[in-house]
Amino acid sequence: MKYQSTRNNTISVDSANAIKNGISPEGGLYVPCEIPSISAETIDKLSKLSYKERAAEILGMYLTDYTADELKFCADNAYHASKFGGENTAPLCSLEEGLNILELWHGPTCAFKDMALQILPYLLKKAIEKTGEDNQVVILVATSGDTGKAALEGFKDVEGTCIQVFYPVDGVSKIQKLQMTTQSGKNVSVCAVKGNFDDAQTGVKKIFTNNEYKEELNSRGYTFSSANSINWGRLAPQIVYYISAYCDLLKEGKIKNGDKINIVVPTGNFGNILAAYYAKVMGLPVNKLICASNQNNVLTDFINTGVYDRNRKFFTTVSPSMDILISSNLERLLHHISGRNDALVSSYMKELSENGKYVVNEEIRKAISDIFVAGCCDDCDTAKTISKYFDKYSYVADTHTAVALNVYEKYVEESGDSTPTVIASTANPFKFNKAVISAIEPALNLDDKDEFELLDILAEKGNIEIPVQLSELKSKEVRFTAVCDKDLMIKETDSFLV
Ligand SMILES: *Cc1c(COP(=O)(O)O)cnc(C)c1O
Repeated sequence: MKYQSTRNNTISVDSANAIKNGISPEGGLYVPCEIPSISAETIDKLSKLSYKERAAEILGMYLTDYTADELKFCADNAYHASKFGGENTAPLCSLEEGLNILELWHGPTCAFKDMALQILPYLLKKAIEKTGEDNQVVILVATSGDTGKAALEGFKDVEGTCIQVFYPVDGVSKIQKLQMTTQSGKNVSVCAVKGNFDDAQTGVKKIFTNNEYKEELNSRGYTFSSANSINWGRLAPQIVYYISAYCDLLKEGKIKNGDKINIVVPTGNFGNILAAYYAKVMGLPVNKLICASNQNNVLTDFINTGVYDRNRKFFTTVSPSMDILISSNLERLLHHISGRNDALVSSYMKELSENGKYVVNEEIRKAISDIFVAGCCDDCDTAKTISKYFDKYSYVADTHTAVALNVYEKYVEESGDSTPTVIASTANPFKFNKAVISAIEPALNLDDKDEFELLDILAEKGNIEIPVQLSELKSKEVRFTAVCDKDLMIKETDSFLV
């Protein structure tokens, strides 16, 4: 299968090149030229397999220039039981009939980003071999917290690669910051940026599209790639767990093959929910895709009105991984929904970068609202939702998952829809411990507590176990303390690439 660019249909590369390049040279994103389909029979067959096997099968439909053995190798290593706390890589937790939480955070960094970032380095390493790349591949990452750590953990000491991560100086939780600044590995570098996530992301995009600088680096033996969700190698592995969740529901007798499900996704950059969209287009029986946002509700407004307008106040919320005003992967949705109208997508993206705003035509708006439902909630409702689910089900949801639960509840109230539903749960609650404890025990004063005391308190109050990956941060040395201006990110990168 070939990959074209959202902004130029005549571009055609195989998946190894799409994964190695990360982003298309003219700034567009790689999309598959056709979307493979899965039948009820295939779903039946997949439901009898392990997660690793499902991953190798499904990835094989998209990454057709990889052999079945190569993909098996990648999936077996990435989703090894030692990394995901057992064979059940993405377990479903059923709270009540029809309400299923898909826990995507059992990996090494306790966030759903591990689902893709554990396998991406394997896919990229193979891509380097396949394309005969001699240069060292430099992974540049802008992170709102979770991607950075997951990418560092995935790429540390991977031969032929090195990784530079930028995070917004005040835009990540203390645990997230510690996770990144204590990262081990010879080929890693971490720097805080004075600005918010969008500033960091824009800075990385600028370096990526700076052809002069790229040529210079090329002569020094370096090639850029991306581990952000703009990379197709991030998206493809995310399609797997939606299909896998359906298979698990089937296996447990909770649905019959062919029954539709709803999928609710707490959304930031639109990568996770876009993967669910691909699963739906492939033929997975999906009724509605429900896009949940926090107070940075640019996507809620877009899906409900067709107007994308990033010119608004930016809020720092208790769900920082969704504090985003430019959702990069929306570009891929526009490409597919518009019938691969590259000129139209280019014009919308040009308007977005020049004016921070675009308005899609009526046809596109309608097509999107046929598939997607959108809603948002603020920090106060997020806290109430955490508290409610803890009281009702003894289930501790993290702040991002709580946004999804809240938006889903409002949707059910308005629509009366009783379709069985899968809620994507994107982080272990310990990663956002302070906000979660405040929600379930509002009377506690946490002001004088350090991160590790907070872990203990949440373990006790929530009756859940602290993941070792987080408790062991206490004894790790902080290696990275650099902070840079958003305009100096290129300089920071350059000094790492000596
Ligand atoms: C990254 C992230 C999200 C948002 O996912 P997108 O693919 O960017 O929409 C939501 N929750 C958590 C915990 C995350 O780390």
